[in-house]
Amino acid sequence: MAEIDKADEAQLLATIDRWVEREVAPRVKEFDHADRWPAELVEQMKELGLFGATVNADYGGLGLPARTYAEIVMRISSVWMALTGIFNSHLMLALAIEKFGTEPQRRHWLPRLASGEVRGGLALTEPDAGTDLQAIRLTARREGDHYVLNGTKTWISNGIEGSCFALLVKTNPEASPRYSGMSLFIAPKGPGFRVGRKLEKLGYKSIDSAELIFEDYRVPADHLIGEVEGRGFTQVAGGLELGRINVAARGVGIAEGALRLATSYSQIRKTFGKPICEHQAIQLKLGEMATRARAARLLTLDAADAFDRGERCDLQAGMAKYFSSEAALENSIESMRIHGAYGYSKEYDIERLYRDAPLTCIGEGTNEMQRIIIARQWIKQHAEI
Ligand SMILES: Cc1cc2nc3c(=O)[nH]c(=O)nc-3n(C[C@H](O)[C@H](O)[C@H](O)COP(=O)(O)OP(=O)(O)OC[C@H]3O[C@@H](n4cnc5c(N)ncnc54)[C@H](O)[C@@H]3O)c2cc1C
Repeated sequence: MAEIDKADEAQLLATIDRWVEREVAPRVKEFDHADRWPAELVEQMKELGLFGATVNADYGGLGLPARTYAEIVMRISSVWMALTGIFNSHLMLALAIEKFGTEPQRRHWLPRLASGEVRGGLALTEPDAGTDLQAIRLTARREGDHYVLNGTKTWISNGIEGSCFALLVKTNPEASPRYSGMSLFIAPKGPGFRVGRKLEKLGYKSIDSAELIFEDYRVPADHLIGEVEGRGFTQVAGGLELGRINVAARGVGIAEGALRLATSYSQIRKTFGKPICEHQAIQLKLGEMATRARAARLLTLDAADAFDRGERCDLQAGMAKYFSSEAALENSIESMRIHGAYGYSKEYDIERLYRDAPLTCIGEGTNEMQRIIIARQWIKQHAEI
């Protein structure tokens, strides 16, 4: 079980706070508005160890518990959520290898991923398969000691800048049930694996979202995670609760960031002879925003604690993800309203949080599905018969 000494945790979080304040906050508008890859910040993230944040120390990572990791994601997201996408989806690739890979796979890949020498992400979604992941069509056909892959992924974070992906495929497209024919590969870029196009987005700028195309892409058989076919769907659907915890933490960050901006602006802006925070209409908004942000934080830390205790925590992670992402959306629009016309201006930070927030409601399972999954598990846990 990953653990960290309280003093070490405080020191690490103070380092992150300083980095966000000195390096990220002053430059975020420049990167975000130009939709420019933040190469300099990525180098600093390597030095901070963020690409190995949750990777076990035996494999060169920081080996942080989910709780500390969530605290880091909250802090960065309160200023610039997109930046966390660069290491979040990368860590999902690392987690898949650490949790489900063979020991030789761990020894080979994890140190390279933890240092940031190899960076990447998780490639599940296809043009005709998002929520219904079992409908994917990318196939992997065994040929001797290789597999030959054909198909297309889309919306893949780090698709252009990353060089290696955990790739969900069909090794048996005829299998029934469908999930039993799905497998997860470690897919480094090479001949037959190319980027289709960069996708333009409302927010979540600077991090690249891309279409990935596989045409007779050959991957050695030892790149199949766990080296047993048919486990891919279970690995991505059941094994990666940390993904939902990190989207929840992003939501908390945006909800808290939007609150902080509104708190400060409402004390400076005056109408009718007094700061707007003294008008009851604004106080009602601030009261709701502060409560939502706090509740989102507590739900997310509750899920992270359950994860750190090694418990099955998909119910807590689902609740945290759902609630925190909705809190991000609501707080960002309320903060924008509190800013009046300036909330609509590109000179103020709130417009970025408002553009970034909706993604948290889509990624790692849409909030529509999230509520259905929560309800199903809830009923199972409270079965009367
Ligand atoms: C910026 C960005 C980054 C992303 N990064 C990645 C990445 O790195 N890797 C990756 O694999 N994917 C990534 N995605 C894709 C994301 O995971 C999918 O968009 C998401 O899973 C939803 O799939 P979809 O867009 O195909 O929507 P659909 O599955 O087509 O759903 C459309 C709507 O129908 C609803 N719906 C669908 N089925 C049901 C149902 N059974 N009951 C009720 N409602 C339902 C959904 O909730 C949604 O509202 C990213 C997406 C974005 C926008």
